This record gives sequence, structure tokens and C-alpha cells, in this order.
Amino acid sequence: MTSGEMGGTGDMAALAAALRAEVDGEIRFDAGSRGAYATDGSNYRQVPLGVVVPRTVEAGARAVAVCARFDAPVLSRGGGTSLAGQSTNTAVVIDWSKYCTGLITVDAERRTCVVEPGIVLDELNHRLARHRLQFGPKPSTHSHCALGGMIGNNSCGASAQAYGKTVDNVRRLEILTYDGQRAWVGPTPPAERARIIAGGGRLAGIYAGLDRIATEYLADIRRGYPRIPRRVSGYNLDSLLPENGFDVARAPS
Ligand SMILES: Cc1cc2nc3c(=O)[nH]c(=O)nc-3n(C[C@H](O)[C@H](O)[C@H](O)COP(=O)(O)OP(=O)(O)OC[C@H]3O[C@@H](n4cnc5c(N)ncnc54)[C@H](O)[C@@H]3O)c2cc1C
Repeated sequence: MTSGEMGGTGDMAALAAALRAEVDGEIRFDAGSRGAYATDGSNYRQVPLGVVVPRTVEAGARAVAVCARFDAPVLSRGGGTSLAGQSTNTAVVIDWSKYCTGLITVDAERRTCVVEPGIVLDELNHRLARHRLQFGPKPSTHSHCALGGMIGNNSCGASAQAYGKTVDNVRRLEILTYDGQRAWVGPTPPAERARIIAGGGRLAGIYAGLDRIATEYLADIRRGYPRIPRRVSGYNLDSLLPENGFDVARAPS
């Protein structure tokens, strides 16, 4: 069965049943839930195949594994405030914003923290306030946008002039690929990249591919966005546990 064939009543019933059996979360394939998730902050409408609201990050990863077994497309969703339809698609929508909202650790010395993907920006800053810290980028939707969605969109906002965009404030990401590779990634010096590539396996393939793209398209990348074949929805398959840092010395009082 391919994703192009997904959508038959039998397939959908089997997919929903497998998700219910294997995933700790709310599995919503009813018309009302699918309607509720058919749009975001934009005018786009795409009715999802179904919705999974995982109770833990582990459960979210499990949901992706089940969807992969059925060859069903997946789409991560935070606050759903995107302006161009990014958080809608004919896919199984994984809504991280209800339960996966933890602030896992704060390192006040290093001014970094580790969060779950569904934590809302205002909530994060509320919890960081006791450390006299905050996350710098602040889109207008700060009361609803989640860190996973901010990373997906590379969100900015008025404070980006002072603190940069989200990409400038993320140290590392825990990624999950559709085929089940889960790993922490971040700035990787050449020697470390060479070690990973020599180790072989899926992660080596990803690093080698990125190296190849960077080498082949370096001039294009420096000029602007290169014209290279890409899967636009690729990043939607990831489960993110970002480690964020910002310069407290430049924070507004
Ligand atoms: C009125 C209004 C004002 C806005 N103002 C600003 C602004 O000032 N600055 C700005 O930058 N943007 C702005 N936006 C756009 C949007 O609100 C922000 O980009 C916001 O940060 C998106 O966060 P979200 O949680 O709602 O993301 P979502 O819409 O839920 O998702 C955004 C993208 O991230 C992906 N994603 C979500 N979670 C994950 C995950 N765990 N793993 C992988 N991918 C994931 C989604 O699939 C989607 O592609 C505005 C939008 C509105 C409606």
C-alpha cells in the first residue's frame, strides 16, 4: 500500500485501530476532529486523514512508526497558527500541543534549556522567569505558538531585531525520521561528521547527504536558496526536543 492509496475506508479503519492499540494518546478519526484540524491561521483547507494527540513524546514517535508501517503521511502541529497552510495536510496530524509541553531542564549558568515540542512560548517564558531568563524570538502569536512550530517556521517577530530568529537560538534538536531514526543533532565539526559517516547506518547516510549538498551547492547556498530537489514536508516528520539558548545580557528589562 502506498500513501497515494491511503484513504480507503478499510485502510483508514485499520490505521486508526493500530494507532489505538499501540499509541498512548487520543486517536481522533471522527469527522468533527478532522474538520477542526482542517485549517490553521491561513485560508487553506486540507482535511487530515486523522488526528493523534500523543500523551508523551515516546507515544508521538510510536505514532509515526505506526503511520510508516501503513505508508501514511504524517504532519506535526504545534499551535496551528501558520499563515500559509503549513500545519494542514492530507496526513495524520500529530498535535504535540496538548500533552507534550514539558520544560525538561534549565541550565541557568549556560542559559540553555531543553523543552518538549508542544510547549507554548508564553508558558516557556513564564516558567523561565524564575531563572530571570526568556527565549528571545517572539512572534505576535506568542500566547499560542509552540516551540516545535516556531522551529518548523523559523519564527521571528519584533524581538528578532535584538535576539535573532528561532534558528539563531536553537542549540540542538532531537530528530525523528519517518523511517525511525532518532538522534540528537546540532553543530557538528568536520572530524565528528567524518566519524559519524564512517560509522555507517542511516545517520551516516543523512550526514553524508547533507555534506554532499553543501559541497555541490555551496555557491548557490551563499547566493540564496538553491534550486535543488527537496521534499518540502520532510521536516514535518521530526519529533523535536530543542535545546534553546539566548543572550540574557541583551534581554529587555
Ligand atoms: C496574527 C498572526 C501573527 C503572526 N505573527 C508572526 C510574527 O510576528 N512572526 C512570525 O515569525 N510568525 C508570525 N505568525 C506565524 C506563526 O504564528 C508563527 O510562525 C508561529 O511561531 C508558528 O507556531 P505554531 O506552533 O502555531 O506552528 P504550527 O502552525 O503548528 O506549525 C508550523 C510548522 O512547524 C511544523 N511543526 C510543528 N511542530 C513540529 C514538530 N514537533 N516537529 C516538526 N515540525 C513541526 C508544522 O508541521 C508546520 O510546518 C503569525 C501568525 C498569525 C496568525
